[in-house]
Amino acid sequence: METKTHIALVTVPVYSHLRSILEFTKRLVHLNQNIHVTCINPTFGSSICNNVKSLFESLPSNINYMFLPPINLEDLPKDIHPALKVEATLHRSIPSIYDVLNTLHSSSKLVAVISDGLINEVLRLTKKLDILAYSYFPSTTMLLSLCLHSSNLDKTISSANKDLLEPLEIPGCIPINSTDLPDPMLDRSSEGYKIFLEANDRFYLADGIMINSFLALEETTIRALQEKEDEGIPSIYPIGPFVQNVSCDNGSDLEYLQFLDKQEKKSVLYVSFGSGGTLFSEQIIELAFGLELSGQNFLWVLRPPNKHGVIDDLDSGEYEDEILYNFLPNGFLERTKGKGLVVPYWAPQIEILGHSSIGGFLTHCGWNSTLESVVNGIPIIAWPLFAEQKMNAVLLSDGLKVAIRPKVNENGIVEREEIAKVVKNLMVGEEGKEIHQRMEKLKGNAIDALKENGSSTMTLTHLALKLESLGSH
Ligand code: UDP
Repeated sequence: METKTHIALVTVPVYSHLRSILEFTKRLVHLNQNIHVTCINPTFGSSICNNVKSLFESLPSNINYMFLPPINLEDLPKDIHPALKVEATLHRSIPSIYDVLNTLHSSSKLVAVISDGLINEVLRLTKKLDILAYSYFPSTTMLLSLCLHSSNLDKTISSANKDLLEPLEIPGCIPINSTDLPDPMLDRSSEGYKIFLEANDRFYLADGIMINSFLALEETTIRALQEKEDEGIPSIYPIGPFVQNVSCDNGSDLEYLQFLDKQEKKSVLYVSFGSGGTLFSEQIIELAFGLELSGQNFLWVLRPPNKHGVIDDLDSGEYEDEILYNFLPNGFLERTKGKGLVVPYWAPQIEILGHSSIGGFLTHCGWNSTLESVVNGIPIIAWPLFAEQKMNAVLLSDGLKVAIRPKVNENGIVEREEIAKVVKNLMVGEEGKEIHQRMEKLKGNAIDALKENGSSTMTLTHLALKLESLGSH
């Protein structure tokens, strides 16, 4: 069939964001073969890592992609937080994104631009071209709701957020303690908070916001936003969960598979902190002792400690395995041999979570990891690190009740005894059994949402039809 409808997609150079938005785009063009997408990717650093490359290589022919010339960040301090590197890259990429959009629009009439929520400056550019501007939001509706209400909250709350005594009430959301708010909200006098508010205001420019969530997961929050569409809240499209079906990892690392194959069903706790998350030294030691004390089987993706709690995901592999293992307590690997496996840096998470031996996931609550746990029905230990992860942990533990959240002591450490307690509770305790039942139900809801007549598929099909009709005018 002749291709009529051309859409541009603007991504951000963050592995988890790319993975999510590309899955969404694949589904969009699969549901409506009359849509053609050009994907524009800002970049930084000297090369594009293999994990990212393989995401693009898996795209079908109706999604073209281009990488913008890498942004030079040499003027930034060497040990700057990786999030600030991304922020600078996005900001500095705006002029070239505009040039590309302009060229594409003049040569092949774009009907819409969809941009990752992290680069919502693109919404403004798209409005200049007078075409539809959509945002793809790869996180929770709860976070989106906070973003959309943040300017109002700013006007109505007088104290600095971190001093709020009462939990924050956002329409349709469970209350959030101030300590669980996203990092930029913790200090209202900071530059980061100002930038956060400005970025959130830009969401109001969107003609619609697609969220990687589904009705049964966040119904009250989604409905509360949809009820306010007449009052200026953009249209909200819950169209997830988008989770990669097949991992793009190259399968060379089979040690994990041999290990999992030997374990009993649902007996292994998978421990991983996302594409770049890591712990500080002392916490790595506590986690190791906690896992050992719990007596449960585990598969742990280990990264070197980092003061920011995150290593630059495009820069992984800085230590040889043997040096990396030195961050573990003496004798840990020998004592846990057969019961536990430590995998350096990276593991094929999708395959692991789908393995029948996995019975629990200790996760930093990144939204992709969370959804991957949900679609596999795996109960969670919620161990948030940064960004909006503490809010995700609140949703999982207090809201959906599918996670246990360990207590952090007054020095910011989760102690080994606490770790052992929550691991045992989840893997073999009564609480774990109840959580497992609730997770199984959510898994069923996720599968239903993506069926032919499921809520997410119907929403995306309607949206795709709307876009297609614009292309044929
Ligand atoms: N991931 C993986 N192997 C790893 C670590 C992470 O495949 O060893 C994938 C994981 O499956 C998920 C993504 O990386 O799709 C991490 O995304 P998430 O939103 O959970 O966290 P973030 O990386 O944004 O902190």
